[in-house]
Amino acid sequence: MEPSIESFRDSELALALVKKIKQHQVEQACLMEFCGSHTASILKYGLRNLIPAGIEMLSGPGCPVCVITQTDIDRAIALAQTPDLILCTFGDMLRVPGTDSSLQQSRAEGCDIRMVYSTLDALNIAEQNPKRPVVFLGVGFETTAPTVAASITMAHSRKLKNYSVFSLLKNCPPVMKALIEGGKIRINGIICPGHVSAIIGSRPYESIASEYGIACVVTGFEPVDILMAVDMLLAQIVRGKPLVENAYGRGVSPQGNLIAQELLTAVFEMRTIGWRGVGDVAGSGYQIREQYQNYDAEYLFKIKVGPSKEPAGCMCGDILRGIIRPPECPLFGKVCLPERPAGPCMVSGEGACASYYTYRDSARSVR
Ligand code: SF4
Repeated sequence: MEPSIESFRDSELALALVKKIKQHQVEQACLMEFCGSHTASILKYGLRNLIPAGIEMLSGPGCPVCVITQTDIDRAIALAQTPDLILCTFGDMLRVPGTDSSLQQSRAEGCDIRMVYSTLDALNIAEQNPKRPVVFLGVGFETTAPTVAASITMAHSRKLKNYSVFSLLKNCPPVMKALIEGGKIRINGIICPGHVSAIIGSRPYESIASEYGIACVVTGFEPVDILMAVDMLLAQIVRGKPLVENAYGRGVSPQGNLIAQELLTAVFEMRTIGWRGVGDVAGSGYQIREQYQNYDAEYLFKIKVGPSKEPAGCMCGDILRGIIRPPECPLFGKVCLPERPAGPCMVSGEGACASYYTYRDSARSVR
């Protein structure tokens, strides 16, 4: 029988893991949780307060909304201003500030921008509006990309001629390597993203462990999952033998979801794409293949924008690289709030700034 979700929130189990973590007697180590959902759970459950003082926990660039570059946000806004076009997007994207505007502001000014919950909603909108171009704004990582790929194959089989995707989709392992090679921070261990790994499996991290000597553990999002990952990472650090371990067996296998991977390969090829704070990363973006170019909004609309400018004073780039923590940004909690975000990391529930602000009572005493 599968253990219930409550067992992954069990305080006795969590405290037993904290005891194990302390027994490693690691005085100093720097662990990065790549994924924004891990950051949110760590802060929500006050986990940083439970582990030894020398164990640094840094947030990484694992929030898909936060890592979109200013230029790409401006391009999405410019696309939405195309006459007659309907832009479909997940809700978080509406409030991300661009250089001069946002999708929310463009909608208030008359652009037809619709919030959807899935690509199926966008396909239905395309079917209901056959004379108007309908574009889905593809934002996300490996977790979201298969559903976007499926929407393209479905549009193809339904012979929908007015549906396309503006793909800003990204994949994670290349940016992990870019961060390590950037050398600004010395990471000893990575808590690898759970949702992403459900699709790609745990194998793609093997080269991070073998080439860079960094311990990797894939895990889930409950407190026991995360403490188990910290315990396993510290055990690897003590042994001096970095490898990839999986603490999320209920969701992740070494090979991942092969059906989703086949779909990704059929529809997309890999390309260089920009990440906020990190820059261009080769092989980290999903580009729609030529065979599906009639569903590629980038190909169809040739979107052009002027020079982009990041929000004044916003330090999201440094936060996404783990160089500073959100409260170190002078705008945090003063000018920049979840209801009035100055930068993208305060918009989404997966954004580090939004998590630090939402759970600030447990974050206040953290290291
Ligand atoms: Fe950007 Fe706001 Fe975070 Fe500062 S607090 S880094 S302005 S999102």
